[in-house]
Amino acid sequence: MAATQYIEEGEVFQLTDRPDNINELLLVRIGEITLKGLNRGRFVARLIGNIKRRIKDLGEFSIVQSHSRIWIHALSGEPSMKEVAKRLSTVFGIVSISPALEFDPDWETLVQVVEDYATVVLLGKGKRTFKLETKRVNKSFPLSSYEVSSELGAKLLTRFPEQLSVKMIEPDITIHVEIRDKIYVYHETIPGHAGLPVGMSGRGMLLLSGGIDSPVAGYMMASRGMILEAIYFHTFPYTSQQALDKVEKLAQILTRYAGRIAFHTVDFTDIQLELNDKVPEDMLTVVMRRIMMRIAEELARERNAKAIITGESLGQVASQTAEALMATDVVVGLPVFRPLIGLDKNDTIALARKIGTFETSILPYDDCCTVFVSKHPKTHPSLADADKAEARLDMDALIETSREKISTKLIDLSFEFEESH
Ligand code: ATP
Ligand code: MG
Repeated sequence: MAATQYIEEGEVFQLTDRPDNINELLLVRIGEITLKGLNRGRFVARLIGNIKRRIKDLGEFSIVQSHSRIWIHALSGEPSMKEVAKRLSTVFGIVSISPALEFDPDWETLVQVVEDYATVVLLGKGKRTFKLETKRVNKSFPLSSYEVSSELGAKLLTRFPEQLSVKMIEPDITIHVEIRDKIYVYHETIPGHAGLPVGMSGRGMLLLSGGIDSPVAGYMMASRGMILEAIYFHTFPYTSQQALDKVEKLAQILTRYAGRIAFHTVDFTDIQLELNDKVPEDMLTVVMRRIMMRIAEELARERNAKAIITGESLGQVASQTAEALMATDVVVGLPVFRPLIGLDKNDTIALARKIGTFETSILPYDDCCTVFVSKHPKTHPSLADADKAEARLDMDALIETSREKISTKLIDLSFEFEESH
């Protein structure tokens, strides 16, 4: 067999000049889904559908599920498997991905592949210690797992006696060999975001502001299988076009995880001004939040969403005390999911960094809650306080007219990744 050439491409390597008898593929591990008993088929079908949508512009693929994994081969288009793996790493339901080589069980080919492999992934990167880990599922293969590992290890040490050494604990690289109907060789495991496939838990209406919290809340609920729609209350000109652009950008980042998002903007200025005029100052925030909830619920029901999602966290600000949350909950009939309720702000920030929303969230454009904030909000409003504060408003008319103030835009999958940390 001609020496195989490899190109390093970040963490994933690719064969160029690949001999016909060696295929590249991705081994995709699916975690929690495998526990889903009778529903498993539905979960896997949904995940495969989501995977297809995510990579369809990169080529044609065969995507097959077996042995708690999904096996992805390129059929045409010669896609960069690095790009494919990167896209899939944000698909919920995927626990990890290993780019691998695949070939028919044959000892000579295996030796050749592992030697070439070591040349690239070890020596090519200035590394020297390795370990071989073999799993033999196909018992008709003549050597045991232990024999395969030790023979291959010996071959590598004979070929590169000066440069390489075996290290059982924390080697630079572990070369995995799996012997099934075919042999698979890989060294790398790219972590995914786990969770459940988007679409398995219905639709959620996310109150998305420009802050740090609400995008994280959306990510968390999408990770439990919810399709996201976003609603943003915009108070132009008190909040700028840039503030709206920023929220839209956040929704776009979320599409990496959640897929396409319907983004609804409510022109909230008239309502906000009416509140400022008719609601006691210390109750302004609570009433404003109750109205946002009512409008979000109307839209959620119309769009067949099963829940409202917010980025609230207990005690973070005056409007997030138990009483204030209750005062907003009572005005809606749908469940309100607040996945950050018990998180420390630092944990939320760490998540925002991980998912890539943090840098956008901290851009300095005011949202309406900073422009129209109560100076001394009531931190423990009773329900009676809230009802009384709304007495001078014609709530039904207000909610009714808000319908004409909503504009909707579909935000499509975004793949321009700034690296998230
Ligand atoms: P965030 O960082 O998400 O803005 P926050 O800590 O600033 O949250 P608030 O401003 O009190 O908290 O808002 C609480 C929640 O209400 C937000 O997480 C978001 O879900 C929702 N929200 C606030 N303002 C808006 C808005 N203008 N449009 C849509 N949703 C909003
Ligand atoms: Mg905010």
